[in-house]
Amino acid sequence: MGTVLKIRCEWCGKSMGEKDGKGATGTTGSICPVCRVKKLMKHAAATGDNRIRFGGYIADLHSAHKTHRANCCDKDILPCDKYYSLVIGGGGVAWLKHPYRSHKDCLPVFMAGLETTK
Ligand SMILES: [Zn+2]
Ligand SMILES: [Zn+2]
Repeated sequence: MGTVLKIRCEWCGKSMGEKDGKGATGTTGSICPVCRVKKLMKHAAATGDNRIRFGGYIADLHSAHKTHRANCCDKDILPCDKYYSLVIGGGGVAWLKHPYRSHKDCLPVFMAGLETTK
C-alpha cells in the first residue's frame, strides 16, 4: 500500500487534498489558487504593475468613475472603488466591451473560481 502526503497551502494553511507520497508521509507545502492570486497582487502592488495574469485571464486595476455591476458578489462597484476588469487573454472585442468586473478585495477568490470552473 502506498503512503499519503497531505497537501497544505503554505500561505493560508488550507488543506488541498492528498497525493501519493511515494513512500513518504506527512505534509507537503503548496499554494492554493486564491493565495496564488494574492501573491500576484502583492507582487503587482510592489512593482507598480496594475495587471495580473492568471488562469488565462488578464485583470487590470481601475478606479471606478461610475457605478458598475460586479461579477464577484452582490455588491455594486461604486465610484472611487478600486476594481479589476477581467478579460480572457486573446478573447477579442466582445470581452473588451463586456469584461468581468471584480472588487479588488474579491479578486483572489473570484479569479481562483474562474480557473476551477474553466
Ligand atoms: Zn492558500
Ligand atoms: Zn465583490
